[in-house]
Amino acid sequence: MTAAQIAIDGPAGAGKSTVAKLVADRLGYLYIDTGAMYRAVALLAIEQGVAFDDAEGLTALIRDNDISLEPAPSGCRVLINGKDVSRDIRLPEVGNAASPVSAVAEVRSLLVAMQQELAARRPVVMDGRDIGTVVLPDAACKVFLTASTRVRARRRANELLQKGMTVDIDQVEREIIERDERDSTRAASPLRQAEDAVLVDSSDMGIEEVVCRIIELAEGQTS
Ligand code: C5P
Repeated sequence: MTAAQIAIDGPAGAGKSTVAKLVADRLGYLYIDTGAMYRAVALLAIEQGVAFDDAEGLTALIRDNDISLEPAPSGCRVLINGKDVSRDIRLPEVGNAASPVSAVAEVRSLLVAMQQELAARRPVVMDGRDIGTVVLPDAACKVFLTASTRVRARRRANELLQKGMTVDIDQVEREIIERDERDSTRAASPLRQAEDAVLVDSSDMGIEEVVCRIIELAEGQTS
């Protein structure tokens, strides 16, 4: 039987969202991009001038605004109070702000509860940093997807180039290293591989190969 919950964790730029979306499409599962939720909170904080470490201010933003995810051909569409902010949340400054915002324990507990509620309704592929360790600890299929920092920087830079943005690959790599460091050393749910997760290093793998590997792992589960 195919695992009903597939948890994909790993550092920035490992290809989690691309792969997770494809796996979800092939299995007919719902794809949930949890990073997009942290990015939405970061976007609200930037727009409303709330400090990235202000637990009370950030909690109020989550309570007072309706953050929702909708399936979309490109992955997940993110709405804040009904407005599509999918493009805005991909700006590099929003990604950089999402990292300190997501280190705030109160922000995590509110978003984790929302994620668990989404996963309770139907089979899901969820990607993030703490899915296998905190959000879905009982997921039958857990993958820790990674790649070298250079490969990840190259992929991120290509994505930004395709969106018409100017990029400096060394700068992108520095930001990735910084983000990894912050995500791995924070006190609240640091990025780490769950004990029962399978490590997949995609540095030398194509997207299709990674997708097949994850489906194989998901199908190999008995619960
Ligand atoms: O995956 P993505 O780059 O969109 O995530 C943005 C930021 O949100 C990450 O750098 C990380 O700090 C945070 N995040 C998190 N837990 C998750 C997903 C994302 O802390 N489950």
